[in-house]
Amino acid sequence: MSVVNRRTFMITVAASCAALGASQVAAQAAAKLEESDPQATALGYKADTTKVDAKKYPNHQNAQNCSTCQLYQGKPADAAGPCPIFGGKQVAKQGWCSAWVKKA
Ligand code: SF4
Repeated sequence: MSVVNRRTFMITVAASCAALGASQVAAQAAAKLEESDPQATALGYKADTTKVDAKKYPNHQNAQNCSTCQLYQGKPADAAGPCPIFGGKQVAKQGWCSAWVKKA
């Protein structure tokens, strides 16, 4: 393999890897968090804050939801947005989990 061909090959491989990585990040960011996800279950996540188990989480209030949580990364107009607690998966704006922290 000549030096030029090797250089072209390496540039092509690097570009392909970068594109693959970007698409995987985008796909992961777009993934929706399911209530049945083991981590979601562990933190009591519900896509509808009014469906939270009041016996298990007595301090929960219906006014608490992802859109009022410090960790929520969605835009105000979006129905869902990424949450770092769940690896960037999409959580419902009206959702809730026990890691809720009041937005400052
Ligand atoms: Fe929603 Fe906050 Fe729990 Fe994330 S940490 S799921 S934004 S309540």
